[in-house]
Amino acid sequence: MMQQSLFHCGMTTPEPTIVGEALPDIRLEPSLADYDRYLVFFSGGKDSVACFLWLLEQGIPIEKIELHHHLVDGREGSELMDWPVSEDYVVRFAAAFGVRASFSWREGGFEREMLRDETPTAPVHFYTQSGEKRQVGGAGKPNTRRKFPQVSADLSVRWCSSYLKIGVGESYIVNDPVFKEGKTLVLTGERAEESPARARYKTFEPHRSDNRNGPKVFRWVDVYRAVHSWTEAEVWDIMRKYGVNPHPAYHLGLSRMSCMTCIFGSPMQWAMAKKYMPVHFKRIADYEAEFGVTIKRDGSVEEIAARGTAPELDEHWLGIALSKRFTAPILIDPSVWVLPIGAFGESSGPT
Ligand code: SF4
Repeated sequence: MMQQSLFHCGMTTPEPTIVGEALPDIRLEPSLADYDRYLVFFSGGKDSVACFLWLLEQGIPIEKIELHHHLVDGREGSELMDWPVSEDYVVRFAAAFGVRASFSWREGGFEREMLRDETPTAPVHFYTQSGEKRQVGGAGKPNTRRKFPQVSADLSVRWCSSYLKIGVGESYIVNDPVFKEGKTLVLTGERAEESPARARYKTFEPHRSDNRNGPKVFRWVDVYRAVHSWTEAEVWDIMRKYGVNPHPAYHLGLSRMSCMTCIFGSPMQWAMAKKYMPVHFKRIADYEAEFGVTIKRDGSVEEIAARGTAPELDEHWLGIALSKRFTAPILIDPSVWVLPIGAFGESSGPT
């Protein structure tokens, strides 16, 4: 979800390995052996899973990999946007593979950030790799939002991506001293196929937290979009190869695992939210009315839901998706693995 304009300017880029001919579609790839650790920004969605599995395919030792998940609703009790099961899915996924998982969040999550009224943005929380609880920020300039993020590729108005994911991830890397040692490769799962905006992302570049030339603080961090050129079929293929049971959202018919009530939701998704997640839906509809500003310009969530039809959902997977426990197995026998019904289906989500 990062845009080129958000990256630091004037940094020295590492010596890249150029793959293929020097044609317009030139791709840059990191030399994997150069890195001391591999930090996968891991939503639990199929593309972040594919990034992790790709690292295994490259022979990267599991102890050098970390899955890092941002809690969009925070950890203070707000439940507005995220799939309730996502955190546990990540925990169990990490346990199944024996890989370290870590979490970060902005205090109060999406809801507190949205309700800011002449108050500063809330601090970010995380645990360092040595187990120390850290709280960063929270003393910025007071400001007012009181409206939902807007559906746009411009992250200054689509603030959920920047304030609840990108900025939180940057705080984690900048404030855990471990990232001052050696070189870190961040992996993110944007794919060109998802949107024209994502197609323009660079495959490999310094991460926004990079400070390799800093006079006082050294921090070498690159970001690699390892599955940028992959098709959806290739992503499902690697999931099948490892027998990974996909996040419940895919079993409910979605082909992308965004927030449960993502601002990019289609009429079908808002109709689904209204029918099956009525408490979340009503709170969002009530906030739209309270703010006098809707998420989308072409109607309120009520109006958009009315344009769609809620599908019949599998009760088993709906129960799991809306619970705090992922009670299904993470790993299943690849020989009996089947595509979830959401595969190759409607694809709404962040651009
Ligand atoms: S998934 Fe949707 S609602 Fe959630 S942070 Fe991304 S753009 Fe915002």
